[in-house]
Amino acid sequence: MSLATHLLCDDCGETVALDRLINLCPDCGGLLEVQYDLAALPPGLPERAAADRGQGMWRWRELLPLPVGAEEITLGEGDSPLLRMSALGAQLGVPKLLVKNDGIMPTGSFKDRGFALAVSVAKNLGATSGFTYSSGNAGASFAAYCARAGLDATVFVESVANETKVATISLYGASVYRLHYDTSTEIFDALDELARAGRYSFVNFVNPIRHEAMKVYAYELCEGLDWQVPDVMVHPVGTGGGLWGAWKGFQELYALGLIDRVPRMVGVQPAVCAPLVEAFENDRPATIRTGDSTATIAQSIAGDDMIHGGRRILRAVRESDGRAVAVTEQGIANAMRQLGANAVGAEPSAAVALAAVESGARDGWISPDETVVAVITGSALKQPGVLRDVASPPHGDVRADAAEWTRIIDREAR
Ligand SMILES: [Zn+2]
Repeated sequence: MSLATHLLCDDCGETVALDRLINLCPDCGGLLEVQYDLAALPPGLPERAAADRGQGMWRWRELLPLPVGAEEITLGEGDSPLLRMSALGAQLGVPKLLVKNDGIMPTGSFKDRGFALAVSVAKNLGATSGFTYSSGNAGASFAAYCARAGLDATVFVESVANETKVATISLYGASVYRLHYDTSTEIFDALDELARAGRYSFVNFVNPIRHEAMKVYAYELCEGLDWQVPDVMVHPVGTGGGLWGAWKGFQELYALGLIDRVPRMVGVQPAVCAPLVEAFENDRPATIRTGDSTATIAQSIAGDDMIHGGRRILRAVRESDGRAVAVTEQGIANAMRQLGANAVGAEPSAAVALAAVESGARDGWISPDETVVAVITGSALKQPGVLRDVASPPHGDVRADAAEWTRIIDREAR
């Protein structure tokens, strides 16, 4: 069974039943958060879910808001690799560095857990179609899960998204429109207007279900560390659904008595457009519009403002004694190369996590004895143009000639 009980408004405390398709609080327009009756969890269940239920996100079904008997729309999401990065970590001064590689999820990004859950919930409540806006990765994931569920999908994809991202959304059968805008505010206003008009959307946080699936990060991480807690979790931040979901998951495990502390949550953005960092450093309760979202290679998380002022993310980093960190374009490209040289292909928006770890070790907010998890949120293949720019070009051209191959192989092996 699911222990989810109802939705609660962040701003006014209004409660809403989980049995209908709703985006924002009907009273005040605030964000809604799923609540759970954790006390009803059968004893020992999280550990048993880890041990006895095979693989994937749906092992944790009691802690997800999908009712009993409802169909799970799945493509095999969850249980991404948790890799110890001893060599790279030692090089950076963080020997206990781990990478959670969500770049290998079904559509190549961490969006898949969220859409698996949100599309399952929506289909169960009778939805036959849906829409989202996206910088690209969410659109691809949404389109794939809608295709799996038999829902019609419409995706408004940011016009700066590359051709590969746009074509992928289209390949999965969605209707794609290129979205042109001057500021993020225009998008947020349109979303609010549609929500008020009762048009159900799948945009992170406006949709109260998607980020619930990101709690599974916390469960998988603690399970992978034998129910120990990492000291620091570093996550790229666009809307912040991944970081917020993980934070909620850690708090649940704490409330259940399975862990005795929670990690410091660190949100990362590119320095050229870092509204979260600006608000964090200036002690603001919410973000303000700042920076140029077209000036970074980290396109998947580029925005000049955050949905509902990024309030949830600011809360998570502050309450956890974490921080918001900005990284340079050079640092992002360098982090892509470092990850690549250690067998992890990350898109720029994912590599920001490693760039932040490097700055944390250098600036002293990560100490050498701490266990640090950097989340890789998307595959290097998501941005082929940047990948080509960042990686070394081929060393030369060659014909099928055994003697020449031998000379090259011997030379390269030295
Ligand atoms: Zn409200």
